[in-house]
Amino acid sequence: MNRYWPQVPEVLYHYTCAEHGHPAIFGSGTLRTGRDGLIWLTDLPEPNRGALGLTRVSLDCDRGAVRYRVDNTANVVSWMEFRQQVPVDIRDLLETFPDAMPRHWFVSWQDLTAQHDPI
Ligand SMILES: [Zn+2]
Repeated sequence: MNRYWPQVPEVLYHYTCAEHGHPAIFGSGTLRTGRDGLIWLTDLPEPNRGALGLTRVSLDCDRGAVRYRVDNTANVVSWMEFRQQVPVDIRDLLETFPDAMPRHWFVSWQDLTAQHDPI
């Protein structure tokens, strides 16, 4: 098992849908943790939907439609580090999704300020 964890970049991205996520974030300038207690982020500047699992949660909206940029990543950890404390069944469910790229996933369990960054 490779123990190397990706370094957390100084800039990360969060993708959301235009209908639900975007209005909530835009109004407050804040990303808030979801039902899983996490904010999901990536270093990928393109909404690579398969790689990021953006199609998985809801078929009703395009969760890769709107991009936010996060410049304050001091309290963010890589998924590869965080996954150590995630139950193996949940970990497998997320990571074995077709085209999933878990080395490009980062998480925060604290709210983050974010800037709308039109694609
Ligand atoms: Zn939506």
